[in-house]
Amino acid sequence: MTDCTDIKNGHLTVGGADCVDLAKEYGTPLYVMDENTIRAACREFKASMDECYGEGKGMVCYATKAFCCKEMCRIMADEGMGIDAVSGGEIYTALAAGFPAERIVFTSNNKKDEEIAYAIDRGVGRITCDNIEELYRISAIANGKGKTVRVVLRLKPGVEAHTFEAVMTGKIDSKFGFAIETGEALRAAKEVAGLPGIDLAGVHCHIGSQIHEIAPFEKAAEVMFGFIAALRDEGIMIRDLSLGGGFGIRYTDADKPLPYGEYMKHVSARAKECCEKLGLDMPFMMIEPGRSIAAPAGVTLYTVGSRKTIPGIHTYIGVDGGMCDNPRYALYRSEYTAVIANKADQPKDEIITLAGRTCESGDLIGEGMPLQHAEAGDIAAVLATGAYNYSMASHYNRVPNAAVVMVKDGKARLAVRRETFEDVARNDV
Ligand SMILES: *Cc1c(COP(=O)(O)O)cnc(C)c1O
Repeated sequence: MTDCTDIKNGHLTVGGADCVDLAKEYGTPLYVMDENTIRAACREFKASMDECYGEGKGMVCYATKAFCCKEMCRIMADEGMGIDAVSGGEIYTALAAGFPAERIVFTSNNKKDEEIAYAIDRGVGRITCDNIEELYRISAIANGKGKTVRVVLRLKPGVEAHTFEAVMTGKIDSKFGFAIETGEALRAAKEVAGLPGIDLAGVHCHIGSQIHEIAPFEKAAEVMFGFIAALRDEGIMIRDLSLGGGFGIRYTDADKPLPYGEYMKHVSARAKECCEKLGLDMPFMMIEPGRSIAAPAGVTLYTVGSRKTIPGIHTYIGVDGGMCDNPRYALYRSEYTAVIANKADQPKDEIITLAGRTCESGDLIGEGMPLQHAEAGDIAAVLATGAYNYSMASHYNRVPNAAVVMVKDGKARLAVRRETFEDVARNDV
């Protein structure tokens, strides 16, 4: 069970709403997001940030790539969050939802010129730069518009967190950012510090995702402060420091996430130590949680279509979704917890493979999953799917994307409409 789920009258509930009723009313597959769980996570991060660094001394930026739609951006605006956007499309969605541009940070490893121009025109607060060519392009575009952009350099602190290879981003051999160890970062900063159109205000790192330890974050902070001191010695004064996201969540009972306040307490203590030792002022601190805000709030509902037992090998439970709405098992072998929503109070007495509907053997949502005895017509729920599910959805097999409903105190409202066949073929010429 996750924080937003419960069992009532034998049925699974999300945010107080009965999953069987939701499936009936909105159809399946269906993403269900609990608003209170989302807001509680935002508040937990903000409160610990205020407590550790002081009110107004930092910003919690929600990484919209985890789950992005207008309704989510409205909630983020209402919670006073910042947004870490990774594309023009995410910036557009946030702005269309009325999110204030100055609280948006545009971070990606390869921004198109049109996206840079769009971000500058719309007054996006900060741009995180990934490479030297991009810095020159931002300088030229901003200067051409007579504007100056607040720029943050993305760095590789050389810290390895124990997480899955494909979501590890802080080591030297990563496509993201400038390496500190090789001197690349310092050379780049010195080279661009005086460029027109650029205010080199900050440095940034993001060491990976689904991290359950504190030590890698502390280590990364230490490396970043060392680099800020090295820049100061070159006459470059840094005012913004982002330590990225990556906080782990519970997908199965094997995951033991720490309260987010614990990270903040340890990391801020290390940050203060570093500032003291190096004679630095504390910069404006930013963190960028994505998964930890969206994932625990989400549940995906499916209708079971078939049950296929290969004696002694597998029982496949076939559902009406899969890698189109959740590609994470296919991509990373990510583990999930599943429940039959209409049999939620019954024991999980089978071990099954939850199989998706597309023409791909790898289209599975999980293998070796404990589950109640499932039959055609049952509603299967997969928990903690709020992050990197809807946002990674595809149209493989021309499957229309599922709808998203937002639930609050037992009441549901549509956040994203279900796509139709017409939607899928809309841009075909
Ligand atoms: C993906 C990403 C995040 C969010 O990571 P989570 O693991 O979802 O918290 C934050 N910052 C940057 C730069 C990212 O690329």
